[in-house]
Amino acid sequence: MPDPQIEKLLIVQDRDVVLQKIEQELARIPQERSALEGHITAEEANIEAASHALKEKEVERSELDTEIKTKEEAIARFRTQQLEVKKNDEYRALTHQIEQTEQEISDLEERGIELLIEIDETSETFQDEKTKIEARIVEERKQIALLGEREENLIASIDEAKAVLKDARSVVEEQYVSHYDRVKKLSKRPPYVARIEAHKCESCHLRVSNEVNSSAPVAGEPHFCDQCACMVYA
Ligand SMILES: [Zn+2]
Repeated sequence: MPDPQIEKLLIVQDRDVVLQKIEQELARIPQERSALEGHITAEEANIEAASHALKEKEVERSELDTEIKTKEEAIARFRTQQLEVKKNDEYRALTHQIEQTEQEISDLEERGIELLIEIDETSETFQDEKTKIEARIVEERKQIALLGEREENLIASIDEAKAVLKDARSVVEEQYVSHYDRVKKLSKRPPYVARIEAHKCESCHLRVSNEVNSSAPVAGEPHFCDQCACMVYA
């Protein structure tokens, strides 16, 4: 039969663990939230970049149309000039200019067709991707809302967890509570109060001395593992 004080401390320990879990979960929420928000920002930036790239192609295409129009006007001007020139070499020079400009127009038209195909393809993939990304963003925003609810619930349950922990501590003898707090401060994680079973401490899993092994079942004073220094009982 363990020390009644140890039995009470085990309840304290259980409630400490409950409180720690709530606090750890609560502490993780801001990171989870900022990870989701960061992801949404990146997704929105991707949509923006893709939309910008598409717009640039459309601008290029409209500039191309203007350029072609200007060159067609130039050809019309050259033809008018041809009617007015008297010398053969002047006439030939204009013919040469007309041919050159026609070639330029043909190159521009070719690029225009390429651009049209590119715009078609890009806009189709863009719409597909945009729909997918927007659906993901909706999902991520839902997750952020759920995180907010979880945070509220955890904050609400923390006060109750603290209150029941306080109650549990209030019925333990002072010297046991202060040893418990000391061990808790030293240890990285529970258990702070551990059973000795088959000569081993259940906290560090190491073999304790004969002295600790035989004194662990004795009630009335706290005992400690000579390996990890936690409180022990048997
Ligand atoms: Zn130990």
